[in-house]
This record gives sequence, structure tokens and C-alpha cells, in this order.
Amino acid sequence: MNRSLEPFEICHIRPPTENNSLTIRLTRNCGWNRCSFCPVYKGHAVFSRRTIDDVQADIERIGRIDDLLHQEAILSSSSQAEAFKKAEELIRPWEKEIKKHSASSSDDWFSPWFKEESDLRDSVFHVLSWRLGGGETCFLGDADSLILSADFFTDVMARVTKSFPSVKRFTVYGRTASAARKPLEELIAFREAGLHRIHFGLESGSDKVLNFMNKGETAEKHIKGCRKTKEAGLSCSVYIMPGLGGAEWSEEHGRETARVINESSPDFIRLRTLEIFPETPLQAAALNGSFREAPEEQVVSEIRQLIEAIEVDTVLYSDSASNLLTVNGRLPHNKEAMYRLIDRYLDLTPRGKLEFSLMARLTSFHGQYGGLTQEILTALQPFILDEHLNLAIASDHELIRLIRLIRSRLMP
Ligand code: SF4
Repeated sequence: MNRSLEPFEICHIRPPTENNSLTIRLTRNCGWNRCSFCPVYKGHAVFSRRTIDDVQADIERIGRIDDLLHQEAILSSSSQAEAFKKAEELIRPWEKEIKKHSASSSDDWFSPWFKEESDLRDSVFHVLSWRLGGGETCFLGDADSLILSADFFTDVMARVTKSFPSVKRFTVYGRTASAARKPLEELIAFREAGLHRIHFGLESGSDKVLNFMNKGETAEKHIKGCRKTKEAGLSCSVYIMPGLGGAEWSEEHGRETARVINESSPDFIRLRTLEIFPETPLQAAALNGSFREAPEEQVVSEIRQLIEAIEVDTVLYSDSASNLLTVNGRLPHNKEAMYRLIDRYLDLTPRGKLEFSLMARLTSFHGQYGGLTQEILTALQPFILDEHLNLAIASDHELIRLIRLIRSRLMP
């Protein structure tokens, strides 16, 4: 048994499309870390840059795990389930160490999603998922890799492709302010070194909303950053956050976000509906009344308004578990099909909307975690009618409470 296996640093926060990508941390956490709605790095971790030697050491750790997965014929298993079972066997000698590490963070509500330090199980399963997913994609994190120089980036990408020639596509998260600031030639150098796509957290095109949320960006920076990205020949993917304007600025949020999209023409728009997470400044604002959350129906109407106002050719995805509806398609061509889906929900009675929401959230939870947790089962218990989990919930108040609980436990 090879005792030289070691964990490496994983980007636990990455776009859903990169779930099966190899991830390499070039920076740790977020240098901005001030967005009011964002729970990911607050109180958990400080920002730092990693040196090229540090990154190289991780590439070597990944290489050793990868070699072992090949040597032990885990990658040629007859099914994914068997591959994961064999990988579990492989890490058994380290079981004690892994348990000790997991226990230290188990009291943290955020720990299932975000671990500042990865253990060996995370590392082995990460490499395994990447290989089983084809081994072609690599995400270079964390929150804003555009703060790095093109030279550093080029060096990293060359080292990754030398060690893992199967990697064909690199992607990053970036802030539009960083892209707007970068000389065009540098973004072109990123592309020439192998970068394929930048995922931007646009969230909103309304300066009022961006300012209230302390996003540190403006509509103009969004437009400039996206345009420059496309000019450099890179794919531009933007995350929009329905509900971020709350009840008060919902209309403005939809209208201004559509304007920014029309002026910047991203290749992809991804919806990630607002969820107010514990311990965030936004939760404090919601509690003291300075932010009034938009009801689900208003958020869905806002998405309709957004779609109506988008005129450019782009692709819309709802690939986050935070979304109530899965609205996908090419714009503007698929607008009618999107309206039909949205209007089916909007035409429901108020009670029908709540029941729809509960079932949709339960389905998302099941999809994300492969089952329900004890916490959720206990909350549902008084209402369960049979073994098929048919529910009888009398009051709207109970429905809302259950929906809120499940939403707060979904990874966005
Ligand atoms: S820039 Fe992104 S990661 Fe950083 S605080 Fe804002 S939303 Fe969170």
C-alpha cells in the first residue's frame, strides 16, 4: 500500500458545471468577501495567494492519487458505484486520521459544503469523480482567479497539462471588476494559455441592488468586464440572482439585469435564486426590516420579466438547486416554452404554489444528497401519511416553515 498519499487543496465552491472537474486552488477564498448575501467564506477563512511551489506540490499529490487509481484498476471498474467502493477500501488505512479531521468541523452548519481543509477521502473521491467524468476539465479557483497575472496562470496551466495531458479545458470564477481592470492583451494571454471560460457572479444589473448588497461592482463594470472577456475570445458565463432586489426592488432588478445582459451579450446566463443564509449581513438586514424578502411568486414573475426583456442570443440555465423552476433554453427562440412553464406555476392557487414549492424543494434535496437527512425527516414526520412519503399538511404556515428549512439546507 502506498503510504505517501496526501490530501490536496480542493475548490469546494465552484460552478455546478464544474462538479466533475479537477480543481486546483491558486488563491484561497475571496479577496473581496463583503457581499451581504454570500455565506461561503465569511467567518471561515481568510484570503491568501498560493505560490507556484505550493501549487506544484498539489499537482504532485493529485498525480500520486491518480497513479494509484490507475494501478489498482479502480478506474476500470464495471460501474461508478464499484469504483467508489474500491476507493473507499483504498483509503481505509487512513480512516482514523480522516475521522479526527471530520469531527473537528462537524459542529459547523456550513461544513457539509465548505471545508477549508480537505481530507484524504475528499481528495481521492475528487480525483476519482474527475476521471470518471472524462478527465478533461480543470477549474482553477477560488473566487476570483483574474487577480492573478497571465504569467502565473500560463505557468500553472502548462504544469497541469504536462502532468495530466487529458485536460483540455480550464475555467475560473472571476469578478467583472477584475476583468474590466485587466488589459485586453492579458485576457488574450489567458486564453492562449488554455483558459476557456470565465464564470462571473453578476447577480444583478441594478446599481441600487449591487450597492445595497455591497457587491463592490457596478452595472458598467459588469458590461465592460463581460465585453472584454468576449473580445479576448473567452466564453462568458454569468450568474444572476433572482430575488436579490427583495420585494421592493424586484422590478428594477429584473429590468436593469436584462439591460446589462443585452449590452454585454454573455454566452450563458445561469440563474441562482437568492437564499438568505445564516450568519450573513443580509440575514441581519432581513431581521431588522431593512431588506424585505420577495415571496416565491414575485421571484418567479421577476424571472419572467427578465426573460421577456432579454433580446440578445444567449443560453439560459437554471442549474442551481436554489431555483424553484428549471427554466432552460436558448434565448430568444425558446421564450414561449419558458413562459408556459412559468405561467403553469403562476396560475396555481396560493395553496397550490406552496405545495408545488415543497415538492420541488424535496426533489432538489433528494437529487443533491441522494436522500433526506434525519433533521428533515423529523420535521416531516408529523405529516407523513404512508411509506411513499405522501404528506398531509393542514396549515400554510407549516408548509412555509418546511419549505424554508429545506431551502436553507440546499447547496445553491
Ligand atoms: S465576490 Fe463572490 S465569493 Fe466573494 S463575497 Fe462576493 S459573492 Fe462571495
